Amino acid sequence: MDAREAALRQAYGHALRWLASLSERRVPADASVEEVVRALGAVLPDGPSAPAATVDLLATACEPGLTAFPSGRFYGFVVGGTEPAALAADWLVSAWDQNAVMRAASPAYAAVEEIAGAWLLDLLDLPRDSAVGFTTGATMANFTCLAAGRDAVLRRTGWNVTHDGLAGGPAVRVLAGADRHMAVDLALRYLGLGTPELVPADAQGRIGPEALRHALAAGEQGPTLVVLQAGDIHSGAFDPFPEAIRAARETGAWVHVDGAFGLWAAASPQYAHLTAGCADADSWATDAHKTLNVPYDCGLAVVRDPSALRAAMGLRGDYLIQHEQGDPVDKVPELSRRGRAFPVWAALRSLGRSGVADLVDRLCGHARAFATGIAAIEGATVLNEVTFTQVCASFGDDARTERVLARLLDDGTAWISGSTWHGRRVMRISVSNWSTTDDDVRRALDAIRRASSAA
Ligand SMILES: *Cc1c(COP(=O)(O)O)cnc(C)c1O
Repeated sequence: MDAREAALRQAYGHALRWLASLSERRVPADASVEEVVRALGAVLPDGPSAPAATVDLLATACEPGLTAFPSGRFYGFVVGGTEPAALAADWLVSAWDQNAVMRAASPAYAAVEEIAGAWLLDLLDLPRDSAVGFTTGATMANFTCLAAGRDAVLRRTGWNVTHDGLAGGPAVRVLAGADRHMAVDLALRYLGLGTPELVPADAQGRIGPEALRHALAAGEQGPTLVVLQAGDIHSGAFDPFPEAIRAARETGAWVHVDGAFGLWAAASPQYAHLTAGCADADSWATDAHKTLNVPYDCGLAVVRDPSALRAAMGLRGDYLIQHEQGDPVDKVPELSRRGRAFPVWAALRSLGRSGVADLVDRLCGHARAFATGIAAIEGATVLNEVTFTQVCASFGDDARTERVLARLLDDGTAWISGSTWHGRRVMRISVSNWSTTDDDVRRALDAIRRASSAA
């Protein structure tokens, strides 16, 4: 048998066993880093081994140290699972080994990226002529969009940042809500823009439009970026887009929306009101590896003015075969990269319009079920307005909430992370996995009840 076939058959067997184990296995990993290192062996072998045996060793040694991220009972951070069609398509991505740089190099990739991009604009109800870049995640999507915005607002003052850099140019102001995600700060750091001016937000994390208007008027009236948010990681709340965008527009600011998981509300008729007005912004960052449930890594950078994105990310190379209208490479920070649009296309094609809406509705429905279940537990309080996929709860004082979290992790039925929200320790539930069922939620709630009564 061809070495590749033998290795792939090994991987296939291990993958199926892993997926079949999800419904009953403990969600947290059982082995420590050190134990996995021991099982793998830390010494680089002097010579080759058979590919199939190598894959077998990798899978066998790692299995106890794997966290069941794809489990329907994983609710930590904001983490999606993997839709079946997207998972299988991702295997093809590796087998096909397409470099997603140029149309001329991989017509199939360019075609799929074009179709998937158009479908996304349609589902998320964003301006249909926008450019869509496929990045590694929402952090890089925020970076990509904000690079386009930074360059555009500087260009309007006559400053060519592409040629002259930032030093000596007009200062760029950046304003963001106090409860923005730290990925925004990271993106701004990469861009040489420092930390944003923070605009007060309400108890749910929604930026105050009047506070934004005041902050804009109080500072320099130069090139300005305003960063809004669709989906707060603690409350799930959405900024009031119509009012906030109107305030930003009065000063000519570029408006960007970080909607890593929340932008997908627009795909559901039941939740689209949450993103109302959001399409009037200039750029939007979101993830496909969260709410859409494609494998890592995949984020989406959407920019209303394709020429602004190309001005920031495009390049020319004498040895490349470039297309007049631009190539996939002109919309992202990287050159060589994997065919990220293939799994996105597969997820969207397999789910269809109603399937994506249903996915969003189910995640939100499960979040509500968590909120109802937790509110009924003695001593527990749900702290946020549960309008989307996020639930934050306290079990009394910080020490008791911490004990409940620790016991829950020990129990292993579900994986839920803690956080500090408005100065208080909280249990933070994010329902983001397509495979979560009513039964998973029931089992997780039973585990929370057990952890609470023992704490
Ligand atoms: C997850 C998240 C990010 C960062 O996304 P990555 O894909 O992890 O880079 C940014 N903003 C929000 C609101 C998020 O939830």
